[in-house]
Amino acid sequence: MDKSMTFRKTAIITGITGQDGAYLAQLLLEKNYRVIGASRRSSTLNLPRLAHLNIAGDIELRTLDVLDATNLSRIIEEVGPDEIYNLGGQSSVQTSFEQPLYTSEVVSLGTLRLLEAVNLVKPDTRIYNASSSEIFGHSETTMVSEDSPFYPRSPYGVAKLYAHWAVINYREAYDLHASSGILFNHESPLRGMDFVTRKITTTLAQIVNGGQQMLHLGNLENARDWGFAGDYVDAMWRMLQQDVASDYVIASRQTHTVRAFVELAAKVVGIDLEWQGEGADEVGLEAKTGRQIIGIDGRFYRPSEPDPLIGDNRKAQAELHWQPKVSFEQLVEMMAHADLERARDGQVWY
Ligand code: NDP
Ligand code: GDP
Repeated sequence: MDKSMTFRKTAIITGITGQDGAYLAQLLLEKNYRVIGASRRSSTLNLPRLAHLNIAGDIELRTLDVLDATNLSRIIEEVGPDEIYNLGGQSSVQTSFEQPLYTSEVVSLGTLRLLEAVNLVKPDTRIYNASSSEIFGHSETTMVSEDSPFYPRSPYGVAKLYAHWAVINYREAYDLHASSGILFNHESPLRGMDFVTRKITTTLAQIVNGGQQMLHLGNLENARDWGFAGDYVDAMWRMLQQDVASDYVIASRQTHTVRAFVELAAKVVGIDLEWQGEGADEVGLEAKTGRQIIGIDGRFYRPSEPDPLIGDNRKAQAELHWQPKVSFEQLVEMMAHADLERARDGQVWY
């Protein structure tokens, strides 16, 4: 029998080449979805994450740029999706300070274009929007929920807040089934290398293998509520299976500093770290051998940062029956081991 006859649903994933796109595609394929993977045009095929999960051949790839509204409408018309997962966009907070206009154009207006296209072409499509904990930013309380005030502290956070309100507005004005997942940081061995977790695990693995001398970081005292991306994409899917669309905080309910991440990752790869120095700028972390391997570099400090926040995920627990499975310790171990293995095999990995 033709395989297409047996598909349960059709989903479009924008940002298919990214971390979440890969894990979500894997999940939907397991659930027997027809998965349309959308990504912007590139001169080279950019599929290492899909290849890593061994699913590149199971996805129908389409070129889609959220900057082009006609492109979005055309694909929705052609494919007739049941669900759209809007993951595509400039996802780095650090980069958003350097490219604030581009970030807004893609993240804010890109989401608005998608909502418009769905509303005009196929309004019964269910939409997942990748909102972010960066919309909370500064907060009077450490624990934040769906009802907490928003006070973003980066151009990325500001752009995500626009998209967040656009989703609420289209839900209320046009009755679209559109939900935002307010996701706290989620990481994995497929995380982009410019995010601090992956930067730490790749560089430490190279140091162990003699390929690098130093790991240069910014403020080690900054803290994040970190979870595993594989757990978080499951929450995205659960949101779109609800009768009524809504917004959900997805988080681990724990926060850890960058310093704690480095210490644990170093331990996993067999480096014994010792503190040296007092203030943040002088702090050096030194291996037991006496050689300094971690340096603080002002270039990785940001003009403004969110407060250390913890996500209150009780609504997701109650309504989606979701909770994270992988702990912080397991996450660090998984990432550190994966990068150590890659470094030992001599793999060049984005
Ligand atoms: P990645 O950076 O790994 O992936 C982003 C994806 O968006 C890539 O496929 C990228 O394509 C694509 N993209 C970038 N710019 C454009 C553009 N102009 N038009 C179309 N596509 C574009 O991010 P994640 O997978 O980690 O995150 C997925 C979404 O979730 C993002 O919107 C992110 O902002 C959001 N989010 C992520 C969190 C996290 O901790 N991971 C937390 C909260 C929200 P290419 O490969 O060509 O660059
Ligand atoms: P973000 O929460 O989406 O910005 O994720 P990142 O992984 O980029 O940053 C997490 C935290 O680590 C932020 O508070 C950064 O300021 C801090 N940090 C410290 N050193 C670095 C570094 O070298 N690179 C990055 N990306 N972040 C760093």
